[in-house]
Amino acid sequence: MSNGAPLVDSYGRTMGDLRISLTDRCNFRCLYCLPETEAAANFYQQRFAPAGRKFSTEPIQRQWQPRTALLSYEEIARIVRIFVGLGIRKIRLTGGEPLLRRDVELIVQRIAEIPGVEDLALTTNGFNFHEKADALRAAGLTRISFSLDSLDRANFRKITGTDYLETVLHNIRLAKSIGLRPVKVNAVIIRELNEHEIVPLAEFARTEGVSMRFIEFMPLDSARAWLKELVMPGREILATLQKHFDLQAAPARDAAETAQRWRIAGSDAEIGIIAPVTEPFCGHCNRIRLTSDGKVRTCLFSLNEPDLKKELRAGATDERLAAWIRGIVWQKEERHHIGEQDFQQPERSMSCIGG
Ligand code: SAM
Ligand code: SF4
Repeated sequence: MSNGAPLVDSYGRTMGDLRISLTDRCNFRCLYCLPETEAAANFYQQRFAPAGRKFSTEPIQRQWQPRTALLSYEEIARIVRIFVGLGIRKIRLTGGEPLLRRDVELIVQRIAEIPGVEDLALTTNGFNFHEKADALRAAGLTRISFSLDSLDRANFRKITGTDYLETVLHNIRLAKSIGLRPVKVNAVIIRELNEHEIVPLAEFARTEGVSMRFIEFMPLDSARAWLKELVMPGREILATLQKHFDLQAAPARDAAETAQRWRIAGSDAEIGIIAPVTEPFCGHCNRIRLTSDGKVRTCLFSLNEPDLKKELRAGATDERLAAWIRGIVWQKEERHHIGEQDFQQPERSMSCIGG
């Protein structure tokens, strides 16, 4: 399927994974992504006060992308075909909340039928998955990840700004029951917010037979409220789990894997720890991201976003777009600089970039 040389950057990394944000819109207000609720303001203000810093309670003037700015399903399918021609095999649809997009099933279907796509997954907050589950499965979706940071209703509300805990739990079970495999659950762990839920979340994974992913908090929230003190390092998450479970290290599947994986002895449950802040995996990063408005991001922390949509809408041929993509990917950043003096948080938040 590949038309020649692999898609490589100047550090010798070969790209294999494309993450596409389908929309920047979201109906949740997660404290680590779109911290726009009173609960989020209170949480951060308490942590800012000792340093004399103030969390702005001014409502963020949000401009969602107008519809015309978003890539259409035909454009997305065309771009995926070009990337597959360059050797990309894994596609993940994300957002914003991808299930807010009305044509999400059509997008899944168009991508699933592209020869060479070996793995098609979607990441969702799970609020309306029940409305789309069968259609997504029929369209060719095989894997899914849900975000779930708390099993406690009040804490779930504090973290997401919504009261959908029961719906999300129901939908995680529904995804399993319709045969999506694996069903993964992502939890961003933040100090003094949900660190006490690490063990219950792992227990949930064991009883439900889902794969749990614990993720470090990254400086990608829309209010720039991230503090390093709030990061629960992966090794502490692991130590907390090891006190309660017999964990057996799972062998790495490929070099580009971001999670260190463990099996809970005597169960099917898998635990993964993703520690991009304290144990960066930039050296073998094989990911490229496409924003919903058609910009290419070669790193979560890229400070520039080359405009693929502009090239495409200007009438470029597939060959020209492929050459353009090669040129952009060649310049992929060596690594992120979180925690260093020269670190600059990107303009757009995770909800726009696509996690
Ligand atoms: N709305 C969908 C959801 O929440 O699953 C998909 C988009 S969301 C941006 C994708 C993933 O990014 C989620 O698993 C979320 O937990 C993660 N995420 C968002 N902000 C983050 C941050 N500041 N640090 C680490 N992970 C973050
Ligand atoms: Fe939460 Fe995902 Fe929405 Fe961000 S995009 S606020 S992580 S649901």
